[in-house]
Parts: sequence; structure tokens; C-alpha cells
Amino acid sequence: MLYMHAPEVAEIIRDLTAQGEPHHELSDAGIRIEALFMDNIPMSHGRLVYGRARKVSGQTAWWAQYGSHPARAERFDPATPFGVVEIAHPIWSSLSEHKRIALVDHELCHFRVDWEAEPPALMIRGHDFEEFAQVIRRRGLWNASAVNVANAMAEELAVAIESIESEINPAPSDGET
Ligand SMILES: [Zn+2]
Repeated sequence: MLYMHAPEVAEIIRDLTAQGEPHHELSDAGIRIEALFMDNIPMSHGRLVYGRARKVSGQTAWWAQYGSHPARAERFDPATPFGVVEIAHPIWSSLSEHKRIALVDHELCHFRVDWEAEPPALMIRGHDFEEFAQVIRRRGLWNASAVNVANAMAEELAVAIESIESEINPAPSDGET
């Protein structure tokens, strides 16, 4: 995979982490989120990956912070972990502005702040249902997996309604055809 800076993604991250925006918690905690484009579209479980959210920590964060400052690297200083949103460039080029924002919004949902830690720490979380629900509430059914989630919800709801209905109107008994 090849990478390059993604200033358009960074701008959306800035907007969505500003005061009063859904991901303000990240900037409140002083957590840095970088943006990169990938030259290719990764695959995962047979599906195209539009973007990914990663946490950079440990030695990689150390290289990012001190690697080009040899003078500052002569002590055991902590390196601050940071987040990276990486977006498949061929996908980005094909998305409308609305879908671009929805995609970045989705990726930012993968970051969480652990306020118990000192200083507050960056955590990664998976696809919990609430996260999808949030983005759908804000952006509508913007991609296939959002549609899948909505369909799954609709099916659950239909099943629930059916079972309620069958409680009210029990199925006709034998012999009636
Ligand atoms: Zn995701």
C-alpha cells in the first residue's frame, strides 16, 4: 500500500471535531488525528474497505515524534499516541461531498477517549451498533452497509410485529384451510 497526505480528509476531521460537533471529544482531549490516502482499495471479508481508523502508538509513535530530532531522542521521553484515518483514494474520488463526510464521520466513530487515563488516552472501538445508528441518524443511509444495518433492523422489527400480531390473532386452527 502507498500513502499520501489527505488534506481534504483532514479538513472534514477538523470540522467534525470542532466545538459542538459530534466528535469534539477528540479535540477536547487534545488527541491528534492525521489523515492519509491509500493508493489502493483494501479488501476485508470479501468487501471493499472504504477507510480505516488506526491508532499509532509505541515505537511507531516514537519514530513519528522523535525520529527526525536526534537531539530530543537522547532521553526516555514518552511518545504521544495519535489516530490516523486512512481512506482509499479510488473510493474517495467517486464519492459525493455528503458521502465523503459520512465516511469520515464513520471512521471517527472508531476513536474513543478513555477519560480515566492520565492524560486522556485514545482508544479504538469496533462496529458497535450504536456507532452505526449515530452515523445513519446524522447522514442517512449513505452506503451499502448502512442499508444492511437498516434492513436488519427492519427485519427484526417485522419479526417483532409478526409475533405481537400472532399473539393477538392466533393462527387459525387445523381443519380450516
Ligand atoms: Zn468502520
